[in-house]
Amino acid sequence: MIKTVKGCKDIYGEDIEYFRKAEKVMRDTARAFGFREIIPPVIEYSELFQRSVGKDTDIVEKEMYTFTDKGGRSITLRPEMTASVARAYVEHHFETLPSPVKLFYIGPCFRYERPQKGRYREFYQFGVEVLGDESPLLDAEVISLAYRISEKSGIKGLKVRLNSIGCKKCRPHYKEVLREALKPHYEELCDDCKRRFYTNPLRILDCKREKKELKESLPKITDYLCEECKSHFEKVQNYLKLMDIPFELDNSLVRGLDYYTKTVFEVVSEDLGAQNALLGGGRYDYLIEELGGRHTPGLGFAIGMERFVEVLKAQSKIIEKETSIYIAYQDSTLKAALDIASNLRDKGFTVLVDSKGGSFGKQLSRSGKRNSDFTVIVGEDELKKGTVQLKDMRKKEQKEVKVEKIIEELMSNES
Ligand code: AMP
Repeated sequence: MIKTVKGCKDIYGEDIEYFRKAEKVMRDTARAFGFREIIPPVIEYSELFQRSVGKDTDIVEKEMYTFTDKGGRSITLRPEMTASVARAYVEHHFETLPSPVKLFYIGPCFRYERPQKGRYREFYQFGVEVLGDESPLLDAEVISLAYRISEKSGIKGLKVRLNSIGCKKCRPHYKEVLREALKPHYEELCDDCKRRFYTNPLRILDCKREKKELKESLPKITDYLCEECKSHFEKVQNYLKLMDIPFELDNSLVRGLDYYTKTVFEVVSEDLGAQNALLGGGRYDYLIEELGGRHTPGLGFAIGMERFVEVLKAQSKIIEKETSIYIAYQDSTLKAALDIASNLRDKGFTVLVDSKGGSFGKQLSRSGKRNSDFTVIVGEDELKKGTVQLKDMRKKEQKEVKVEKIIEELMSNES
């Protein structure tokens, strides 16, 4: 038997209902905040991610699906979508549009990670990007959008973790301070962190293998921010308070991608276990420049759809079910049955027309197995009178109704 590729999964059954429900809330809420959709390609030149996500990051070092195409080009299945949106911004001269440019996306991403609960090799991200404006009000707005999406979907018990990781001016100094503080503990560090000590010591702060006491004893980046980053961070916090978005400051939050500057944030849920970040994002004021554009500040976040669905399922048991209708008929009434099905579908009902035929008894039994709410029985004798039998499958009640009154009757029965 051929199975799904390791770390990938089919999304079907109940999960797809949650997935589409979540997607609708995300799209509608992003639109209400003035975002427009962009659909970038799934493959990009590998260089895009090396230059944006960063050569020394786990993603680029270990997790990319990269191959050489028949034309000898190095191609990568995107591990995230911010880089693609930034590339599109430069390529299509979005800087000529009124700023800020606000875009959202949804699509599959690929990372060659060790699969576990909440971590897959193919996963979907919904995300937003705001480009061309450095106002801290936008940081707060983007965080509030992330929060509202989760809230509107009915998710409870969420926490917004917030930090600032400074900019090109102040971060290098902090990295040195951090290295100094870590030096006496170098031998205690895990193998990954021994490497990070030289390449990117900030990542040691969010390594789950390092001791909590060690991490808590280290100097905090927010004490080393330059004036500009400090004032920006204070304003973000004030605006979040104005917007009634609860948040916690967390100095260990650094995020795994190189392009972040100033504000970084995550929304976490206790319902997720070890991989508890429902979404993550931050500001990236140099990314567009790295990709050859003009200086263009930007920020955004990405939600992992699979994790979002998992929390939704854990917290909201029942997804609204549409009234479903089964149509039973005789050979001579097929045309009328199909017309009734078509009218009901136009009104938004979910309609199944029996495909196997036979006695009404058999068709009703199939309707029952499908858990239909109603069966419309289109019999020849009734049809001559312009009527059908309508059976309420839950109440086990049946009545004769005029064909033109079926919809009215169904509506009056909908709870
Ligand atoms: P990142 O692009 O790493 O900032 O991740 C943003 C969000 O995408 C995370 O908070 C997760 O919800 C989700 N995510 C990242 N990697 C994976 C993965 N391998 N499997 C499932 N979801 C993921």
